[in-house]
Amino acid sequence: MTNVLFAATPDRWQTYAPHLNSAFNAQGLTADLRVDFAPEEVDYIVYAPNSAVQDFTPYTRLKAVLNLWAGVEGIVGNPTLHVPLARMVDPGMTQGMKEWVVGHVMRHHLDMDRNILGQDGTWAPHVPPLAQNRRVTVLGLGELGSACATSLSQIGFDVTGWSRRPKEVAGVTCLSGYDGLSQALSRADILVLLLPKTPATENLLNTARLAQMPEGAMIVNPGRGPLIDDDALLAALNSGHIAHATLDVFRVEPLPTDHPYWAHPNVTVTPHIASETRPETASLVIAENIRRGVAGEPFLHLVDRSAGY
Ligand code: NAP
Repeated sequence: MTNVLFAATPDRWQTYAPHLNSAFNAQGLTADLRVDFAPEEVDYIVYAPNSAVQDFTPYTRLKAVLNLWAGVEGIVGNPTLHVPLARMVDPGMTQGMKEWVVGHVMRHHLDMDRNILGQDGTWAPHVPPLAQNRRVTVLGLGELGSACATSLSQIGFDVTGWSRRPKEVAGVTCLSGYDGLSQALSRADILVLLLPKTPATENLLNTARLAQMPEGAMIVNPGRGPLIDDDALLAALNSGHIAHATLDVFRVEPLPTDHPYWAHPNVTVTPHIASETRPETASLVIAENIRRGVAGEPFLHLVDRSAGY
């Protein structure tokens, strides 16, 4: 029997338990899934970083931690964790992110806010360019960034992507390294941030880098709040250099009620809803990883703890 501890906030248990149990059955796993094992009995932890479990020391027979979130900044530096850590790669979450990113890019591309006419009776058309004449840059070409870049390219946008290591994504101009970043930013009429939060990405979008973007550029951030230097972004919005920022993620969440983003006319705030892990599809990924662990096969989606993602 393989003992699997579900360690997330209590409201998640009812949602996940049926899907995880049915995925374990489909894999032929004889697993006991619970929220209340003695730590020394646990083989795997299905884990959300906001759960009560923060000290892994008592979990003496633990084989791996399977994160429910794509972002691992809340666990990757935990000094008590000495077993493999897998992050969440979930087809449902990837699909959700593609839909959210394409939707918000299209809002800006089509100038929907101006072209959906309000009640003032002003008939003032702003005909948008075709997508082929709009340059979109995606920072981060991982699971989510490459899927979004591909979707945007399929619509016809002129898409550039940027990652740490060189990459190839069909239909996307792929750049890497800090020279590549300057070039990628200079092509960003619309910039999408899909980088993880690591020491190397914190405040990546600072005053100097915002200045490398075209005048009137727009930003869509479903990645992580600390990717952006907030004061630098507010200054760039106030000067008009950046025309609009759509922000789903923030340094402090919920975004404090007195934060200047709320009142800024050129900022759209969304409540960290760009894409959620979907229990139906994510449970299949978790079951496959436990099957691999039991069979002695390599785990999928392992986190590189030295890189932080
Ligand atoms: P991923 O597959 O690990 O991809 C991360 C990408 O970022 C990779 O292309 C990686 O480059 C690149 N990268 C990392 N550090 C870099 C650096 N220092 N310089 C340049 N590129 C760097 O992650 P993912 O699954 O696509 O998820 C990305 C992030 O989205 C998550 O970490 C999370 O913060 C966020 N997210 C947000 C929501 C939401 O609802 N708002 C939902 C899910 C995820 P390499 O390809 O070279 O490794």
